[in-house]
Amino acid sequence: MFRKILYPTDFSDVSKIALNYLKQLKESGAEEILVLHVIDKKDLQFSYLYLFDESNADGNVEQKLKGDAERELNEIEGKLKDWGFRVSSSVKLGVPIKEILNAEQNKDISIIVIGSHGKSNVEEMLLGSVSENIIRKCKKPILVVKR
Ligand code: ATP
Ligand code: MN
Repeated sequence: MFRKILYPTDFSDVSKIALNYLKQLKESGAEEILVLHVIDKKDLQFSYLYLFDESNADGNVEQKLKGDAERELNEIEGKLKDWGFRVSSSVKLGVPIKEILNAEQNKDISIIVIGSHGKSNVEEMLLGSVSENIIRKCKKPILVVKR
């Protein structure tokens, strides 16, 4: 029923809780996972302030963020492969909800697995803004894993 999963992750703790549910979906017939991380364009300007030093004075902040994300994705990919999944992963630079909606268009995707919250994880918020938008706009079934 849920053969191919879209798993968008911001590498937050909540998102890692969601990762553990993928294992259980394997047991009910899931075979393949697309792991997606979006570097938020909106955050890029702040990253320039934090990461700009002698070593990346040529402005390679984007490259550094991509490299960091790829390392995280490799780790996740290894885990998922150990659990027996076929895995592909991708890093995009842009607006998270747009990129997630884009990935959802892949006709093979049968379910989306997300965390209710992410990196901000504000106590009073019922949902993060990305998860809220996914629930509003995505057409496919969604498994929202709580913090
Ligand atoms: P907010 O971003 O609104 O301050 P938050 O960080 O607590 O709140 P969200 O960003 O909505 O919460 O995160 C909820 C879930 O959405 C995450 O667990 C993850 O599955 C997904 N997600 C969030 N940001 C990204 C991203 N940049 N790339 C991929 N998936 C993401
Ligand atoms: Mn967030």
